[in-house]
Amino acid sequence: MKVFEEKKDNIFKILSESISEGIVIVNEKQEIVASNDAASRMFGYTPDELLGENLSILIPREYKNTHPKQVGEFLKKSDPRQMGHGRDLYGQRKDGNVFPVEAGLNPFEIYGSKYVMALVTDISVRKKQEKEIIELNLYLEQKVEARTKELKQTIKELKEEVLKRKKAENKILESLRKERELNELKTKFLSLVSHEFKTPLSGILTSATLVGKYTETVHQEKREKHLRTIQNKVKYLNNILNDFLSIERLESGKATYKFDVFPLSKVVNEVIYNANMLLKDGQRINYPQNIDDILVNFDEKILELSLTNLINNAIKYSAEYTVIDVVVIPQKDSLSIKIIDQGMGIPEKEQKYVFNRYFRAENALLDQGTGIGLNIVKSHLENLDGTITFESEEGKGSTFTITFPTKNNTN
Ligand code: ADP
Repeated sequence: MKVFEEKKDNIFKILSESISEGIVIVNEKQEIVASNDAASRMFGYTPDELLGENLSILIPREYKNTHPKQVGEFLKKSDPRQMGHGRDLYGQRKDGNVFPVEAGLNPFEIYGSKYVMALVTDISVRKKQEKEIIELNLYLEQKVEARTKELKQTIKELKEEVLKRKKAENKILESLRKERELNELKTKFLSLVSHEFKTPLSGILTSATLVGKYTETVHQEKREKHLRTIQNKVKYLNNILNDFLSIERLESGKATYKFDVFPLSKVVNEVIYNANMLLKDGQRINYPQNIDDILVNFDEKILELSLTNLINNAIKYSAEYTVIDVVVIPQKDSLSIKIIDQGMGIPEKEQKYVFNRYFRAENALLDQGTGIGLNIVKSHLENLDGTITFESEEGKGSTFTITFPTKNNTN
């Protein structure tokens, strides 16, 4: 490359020394035929020390294998381009240190020979800054992530707190509601007591007065009749009081249940025996068939309360000379009891309210009643996994059915 050496003129020298990039020119054999001061400085050589050397002395060992091939191909294509294509490029200093570079290759031909001029920039500082930026970004991302996590945790805790407070608020509202209802109940109870107790009490008073007047032995039958009236009315009042106590317990959450194994016939007989005393003229209750062997495991008091309410209603809301059927239908793990009457029935449009507390149908208002019996029967039965349903036709009669489990798993 002596020829080129000789021909290089001062203009090239001035140009090449005035730019900050390193310039390295190689021939087809990849020998360095020219370099500027910037290039020598960059690679740690004295000016002219590079001349005649193979380009490979500027390339770190790990890139040397691929490099000559690339240069060869490049010379063939001979169009200017940037080296690297996304890969990082490195140069090697005389002292062996490796540093990142950026290189643009410019092929040219002069005096029939091909050359490549490489414009090389030391990008150590830029790379270092890039690395710092990447590290800073990473640090910031981690910080943002940590903050987001903290925020999420705080939001979660806040949500939990809100939920807790809502629950506490609901609890307070619920107990307020219960307290209000209990107060209403007490007020209602007082007014009901005044109305509902008046008639039976005056009946009791009359009968008691009359009993006192029948002093002769021949009046024994009359005396017994009045004593029966007194008994009935006291029973009636007792039932009302029981219903009220039930509501109070249900409302205040103090309803407790007691499971016992007992013969079904014991409760049925007792209830029907008591109900017989309330029958109107010509009314009759048909006992259920074949129940002698049936044992149930249930709350005896609740069964008694339910049947008493239903049979008393059947009597109360049916005319004289009607029949009331009590039918027992045993199933595998449960038992249904139907109370069928031929009474006034419940008007269809009012049927949906039957289990509402204090509900009394229009056609029943002349009879005494509080409208709480069915409501508490339903609540108790449902608390014990039982149900109550009915079918009724106005003027024809009603059938009330209770169903309850006969095996209690908790026992
Ligand atoms: P009460 O009988 O004290 O009014 P209940 O809760 O037992 O209260 O009954 C609510 C209402 O349902 C009654 O007032 C009545 O209108 C209607 N009812 C209940 N049972 C019968 C029945 N067997 N036949 C007709 N109506 C009934």
